[in-house]
Amino acid sequence: MSEQPRVEIYTKTQCPYCEKAKDLFDSKGVEYETYNVTGDDDLFEEMVERAEGRKTAPEVFIDDELIGGWDQTAALEETGELDEKLGLVTDGGSEVEHRKLIIAGTGIAGLTAAIYAGRGDNDPLVIEGDEPGGQLTLTTDVANYPGFPEGISGPDLVNNMKEQAKQFGAELKNGIIESVDADQRPFRVELTNGDVYTADAVIAASGASARTLGVPGEDELMGYGLSTCATCDGAFFRGEDMLVVGGGDAAMEEATFLTKFADTVYIAHRREEFRAEQYWVDRVHEKVEDGEIEIMKNTELTEIHGSQEEGVDHVTLVENEQGHPTDRLDDPETNEFEFDVGAVFYAIGHTPNTDYLEGTGATMDDEGYLRTQGGSGGGQTETDVPGIFGAGDVVDYHYQQAVTAAGMGSKAALDVDEYLEDLERAESSAETEAAAADD
Ligand SMILES: Cc1cc2nc3c(=O)[nH]c(=O)nc-3n(C[C@H](O)[C@H](O)[C@H](O)COP(=O)(O)OP(=O)(O)OC[C@H]3O[C@@H](n4cnc5c(N)ncnc54)[C@H](O)[C@@H]3O)c2cc1C
Repeated sequence: MSEQPRVEIYTKTQCPYCEKAKDLFDSKGVEYETYNVTGDDDLFEEMVERAEGRKTAPEVFIDDELIGGWDQTAALEETGELDEKLGLVTDGGSEVEHRKLIIAGTGIAGLTAAIYAGRGDNDPLVIEGDEPGGQLTLTTDVANYPGFPEGISGPDLVNNMKEQAKQFGAELKNGIIESVDADQRPFRVELTNGDVYTADAVIAASGASARTLGVPGEDELMGYGLSTCATCDGAFFRGEDMLVVGGGDAAMEEATFLTKFADTVYIAHRREEFRAEQYWVDRVHEKVEDGEIEIMKNTELTEIHGSQEEGVDHVTLVENEQGHPTDRLDDPETNEFEFDVGAVFYAIGHTPNTDYLEGTGATMDDEGYLRTQGGSGGGQTETDVPGIFGAGDVVDYHYQQAVTAAGMGSKAALDVDEYLEDLERAESSAETEAAAADD
């Protein structure tokens, strides 16, 4: 197939977003060349030059055109432009395909639902979304998922689950669900690339996305020293002082991980107390004693300074011992100061991905998390809209663990199975009644 444009991907070792980029092109059946820059200074310089100064991997090129990192590649995928650049676009209106079940998301919840639904002969179509494999692909070390006494890397766990789901007949597809029309049955499910499906049931397993602060410097420096993924980008800033923003589990884990590379890791947290599990707080305190981490309590980031050419140079922080200093900027006790760091990592929580469900009538809480019935007995994953079910972090803002997401995924698939059986029964009795009326 000499028609295919030349795809090149600069990667590095232990880079979840590089894996995502490769998975995306694999799923399209597109061949590509990879250049691993880890430990190869010349190749790294080449990447930085071709990527117009960006120092993060992956960097994707199609026919020598800079596409960018994972975010830029995923954005093009969302609009369908990636397929255009790859020459994969077929003309003409797409056929509307009907599926018994569509699952939004290939995180742990969606994939577990797919395994169960596949085994239950419910023929699931699983849409990957803009983060194929979900959040767990961002971590190299999952130590608490049952069955892996030595631990397992997030991407390996996700890939195993994908394989298992496919073995049971699930179909995985790249794409992002834009909307679900619940005014019609079967539901009409539209993807951002224009593909349209109908489905008898939908499982929303669309997880939650990393939050940002919206401070000056953020847009310009994201990918140039500012990152939401320490495991992906930490190694690029070896020897630098690094700032982690946040006070929950993710912040503790990322700060601990970054001590491998950083001169000193600073944690800026807006309160006095961390909101992380004691296990992580203890690990951080061990690192504090070793002089590898310093904690800045009651401190918030208000600006990131630097340039795309030089990366992050320093940040502006505010501190007030009563906590939440940005709410107290007029307080004379609030101290604003400049602080030198070479990289900044956000670990400040997530926003549930529920936009595509707006208009369906499914209830969400104030933050956008999807509400399900919960409780005991069957039907726990039902939303207010019969036929739409929810599972994983998109529902469960409290536990947000891989194993709890898996548990909810299995429940959702079992609830769907019951729902589809009821639906089939209702349809066949309606047909029998109609036939009797015709006689
Ligand atoms: C850095 C990090 C480390 C972690 N480490 C651990 C750990 O060690 N142990 C542990 O138990 N948990 C860990 N977690 C938490 C764990 O990853 C999550 O609880 C789990 O991934 C939630 O799974 P999920 O399937 O609900 O959602 P997610 O993993 O968030 O997956 C959501 C999926 O939905 C897709 N999606 C979103 N919107 C749409 C749409 N519109 N259309 C179609 N698809 C869509 C996304 O692309 C994605 O595939 C970690 C999380 C992070 C960020």
